[in-house]
Amino acid sequence: MALSDLQPADLAAFADTQRAAYDELTAKGLKLDLTRGKPSSAQLDLSEGLLRLPTGHTAADGTDVRNYGGLTGLPELRAIFADLLGTSPANVVAQGNSSLTLMHDTLVQSLLYGRPGSVDPWGVEEEVRFICPVPGYDRHFALTDRLGIEMVTVPMTDEGPDVEAVAALVADDPSIKGMWLVPTYANPSGSVCSERVARALASMPTAAPDFTILWDNAYAVHHLTEVETPTADILSLCAEAGNPDRVVVFASTSKITFAGAGVAFLAGSEATVAWFLKGLAFSSIGPDKVNHLRHVEFFGDADGVRAHMRKHRELIAPKFAEVQRVLAERLGGHDVAEWNDPAGGYFVSLDVLDGTASRVVELAKEAGIALTPAGASFPYGDDPRDRNIRLAPTLPPVEEVTAAMDAVATCVLLAAAEKLGA
Ligand code: PLP
Repeated sequence: MALSDLQPADLAAFADTQRAAYDELTAKGLKLDLTRGKPSSAQLDLSEGLLRLPTGHTAADGTDVRNYGGLTGLPELRAIFADLLGTSPANVVAQGNSSLTLMHDTLVQSLLYGRPGSVDPWGVEEEVRFICPVPGYDRHFALTDRLGIEMVTVPMTDEGPDVEAVAALVADDPSIKGMWLVPTYANPSGSVCSERVARALASMPTAAPDFTILWDNAYAVHHLTEVETPTADILSLCAEAGNPDRVVVFASTSKITFAGAGVAFLAGSEATVAWFLKGLAFSSIGPDKVNHLRHVEFFGDADGVRAHMRKHRELIAPKFAEVQRVLAERLGGHDVAEWNDPAGGYFVSLDVLDGTASRVVELAKEAGIALTPAGASFPYGDDPRDRNIRLAPTLPPVEEVTAAMDAVATCVLLAAAEKLGA
């Protein structure tokens, strides 16, 4: 029965039951963590073979990968990831271990020098604003804020950002220079940007001639089911719409091989790639091509990556299933929470009763369960409805996921009962 339909005496009794469960929980002295989307040790072990590679040091074109040079990255690795990203190798750059660094560099270059199509560097404008679909990735927002770019939110829907809201904002405001988007299995909503939304984003009129979509495809191949949904082909859609330079695509192997020692990729139009390399040439004589070759030898081709990701799926899908099971069993029917059942990615987004997310996180902390701070998935840490909590179940073993989710459910129910006046 919905908690809000209970008579006061029944609600008080319900709250007492949850308080007793909560007291039992705190007495257990738990120490569990559902905060960061990191691969587990078992997932990292899948790539252990990398530590014995490469066996050689010569690239397909005869380049000695141990030496300087090759700013664009090893061609054979770019070919593998071009296939996975649905574009051609000429449109892909392979670099160091972090795509977030490439996003940072893209924004800094845009602020200092402008993008293809810019009249001036973004930084000389009085105001630079960016659209942020919410809930979204906390590090995107922290980076944007750090660079002095003002953030404007739009809701994330089941098929990507609310594209009508985006189109209305960009149509006549030239200070809106771009937007963030995680198109596939978004962090944390799990939504996948539909072809319809991607096409609208690619073709919508924008007041800023250099409006740029930062298309962070971090979870392109991170399927949790057998349905391996492809990402919309945003580069072709932008080109077809006559806006070839509108998008910069990012990806990495952080959650494919080693999160700390993988390879990051940037993709874009010919002009975007040339623009990025021009800036990069001042800060690098070339990326770690030994690591590039190591990854080429390890995977062989794009199908090698796909097969590898199925092994990840086997390890993490049961953890996501456990999150769903516990949430459904404990919270179903009480009408105090909603959550998504993602088909991929690393997160579950839990919306609790309005005004209780901070309380849930606080209760969980006192019971020894670390949750991502309430509001983390919103610009400036401000969730106006104080309801969203991001859950990251990949790192802990499945028994810990069960225990942590059971504890979270108790905290959600207790906080809801308190809010309803118990
Ligand atoms: N983009 C998204 C959406 C993420 O969720 C993460 C990590 O959680 C990253 C980027 C980080 O990528 P990288 O490790 O390549 O810097």
